[in-house]
Amino acid sequence: MKSPRCFFLLGILFVTLHACRTGETAISKKEVLKNNYLKGTSMALYAGINDSTFVKLKDFSTDFVWDMKYATADNFLKAQVYECDECFLRLKTVKNLIEANAEFLEKGYRIKLFDCYRPLDIQKKMWELVPNPDFVADPKKGSIHNRGGAVDITLVDAEGKELDMGTSFDFFGSEASHHFQDLPRKVRKNRAYLKKVMLKHHFKAFDSEWWHYNLQDSYQDKLANFKWSCAHSTHLR
Ligand SMILES: [Zn+2]
Repeated sequence: MKSPRCFFLLGILFVTLHACRTGETAISKKEVLKNNYLKGTSMALYAGINDSTFVKLKDFSTDFVWDMKYATADNFLKAQVYECDECFLRLKTVKNLIEANAEFLEKGYRIKLFDCYRPLDIQKKMWELVPNPDFVADPKKGSIHNRGGAVDITLVDAEGKELDMGTSFDFFGSEASHHFQDLPRKVRKNRAYLKKVMLKHHFKAFDSEWWHYNLQDSYQDKLANFKWSCAHSTHLR
C-alpha cells in the first residue's frame, strides 16, 4: 500500500465515501430555518445597548416575515400612513420577540409582522381618519404601539403560508377575540399556540385582538414620536 497508485485509489475511496455522507446529511426545511436563526442572532449583538433603546428589528434578525399593513393602503384605514415598512421596537421587546420566534422556528413556523412601534403623530393621523376608540387608541392616552412594546403578528408555515386564525388582521368583530369559541378547532388551536409561546416569552395577549401582543410592563414606558428614516440603518438612542 505504499505505491503512488495505492494512494490514488485511497483518495478516490475517500472522495466517494465523503460524497455519500454529504448526500445522507441533507437537512430538512425545518432545520434550515433553525440554522438560519442561530446564524443570524447572537447575544453579542445586544451588548452596550440599553433595554429601552429603540432599535430596528432587521438589525438583529432576518428571520421574520414582514407585511407591514400601514405602509400600504391594505388596512382598515384604507390609507398608507407609514412611508416605508420598518419595524422599530425597544430592545427588550426585540429580545423577547426573537426568543419567541426561535421557538416557533424549531417547529417550522415563524412570525409574520403586521405592525410594531407607531409614532404618536401617526396615531393622531389614524385617529383623524377613524375617531372611534373601538378601532383606534385615543392619541391622548396613546397605545403600547406608541411606547415600542407592542406587536401585531401572526404565524406562517415553512412555505410562508399564514396559519388560519379565523379572521384577518384588524378584523373588528367579536370573532377576533380570544374569548370567541365558536370557531373551527384548528383555528382555536392555532391561536392558542401563538398565545402560549408569546406568553412564555413575557408578552401579554389583548383579549379583543388575537394578533396584538404587549410586552409585560411596557405600559410604563414613555410615549414616543421619533420617525424612522427610510434609509436608516443605525440604532436610535
Ligand atoms: Zn396592535
